[in-house]
Amino acid sequence: MSDKRTAQTETIPAERPCPDCGGTMHRDIRPQRIEVKGLSVEVPQPGWYCDCGEALLSEADVAATDGAYLDLRATAEGLLTAGDVARIRRKLKLSQRRAGELLGGGPRAFQKYEARAVAVSKPMSNLLRLLERHPEMLEELGEG
Ligand SMILES: [Zn+2]
Repeated sequence: MSDKRTAQTETIPAERPCPDCGGTMHRDIRPQRIEVKGLSVEVPQPGWYCDCGEALLSEADVAATDGAYLDLRATAEGLLTAGDVARIRRKLKLSQRRAGELLGGGPRAFQKYEARAVAVSKPMSNLLRLLERHPEMLEELGEG
């Protein structure tokens, strides 16, 4: 077997030929507007860019803006973002584990919300919003 493929590494070439005009594309980070349901936000988008206007994104480039996209979608749907969940949970002085036990979802639920592995539900978003404004109500849940 002479087909010895070199191991795939994470090295990203700084330049690559443009598939559109044959010119040279360069690595850059450029502002890009993403839009969900009429809401939009500008994010720094890494990728290869050509003077002709062509842009190419690797999987990692796409993943780099995933979080911003998920946050925007949550906001568009009236749900809390992962950052909101973490901020409110800390304000309530709850560990991730305790928050899941007390508010629902189980001991790993908040870890997943905050890692953006699971979208926050509408009921959980609403509950956290209420507790953010009325943290004293947490006591009533604990003893229940
Ligand atoms: Zn080009």
